[in-house]
Amino acid sequence: MKSGDGPENAATYATAICCIDGRVQQPVADFGRQHFGVRYVDMVTKPGPVANMSDEMNAYIKISIRAHQSCGIVVSAHADCAANPIDDDIHKEQCRNAATLLRETWTEAKVVPVWVCLDSQVELL
Ligand SMILES: [Zn+2]
Repeated sequence: MKSGDGPENAATYATAICCIDGRVQQPVADFGRQHFGVRYVDMVTKPGPVANMSDEMNAYIKISIRAHQSCGIVVSAHADCAANPIDDDIHKEQCRNAATLLRETWTEAKVVPVWVCLDSQVELL
């Protein structure tokens, strides 16, 4: 558990924003557990989520932040995304932009944009 510069309560939860693609959810959840030092990662899924961070997504994130005192958000995008078949560099830029929006909305949470490669490696963006 992390303490000190985080929320008052030692966090047990983080939140992940992830594609529906079954290849990437486990790597993203594992990354979130390690990065934030939490036991659980709430998974908010949508096909190609970083292309359009909707109000609906924020409503789901709110449940995780408020009810579970989630300490951080992993916002992810991945290679070979069926829902967002664009150039990887543009896709990564969408993910960074989504992180910027999330930081403005969820000032109490740390937001980390990541890219999931075809070999399931997770890279910080
Ligand atoms: Zn996808």
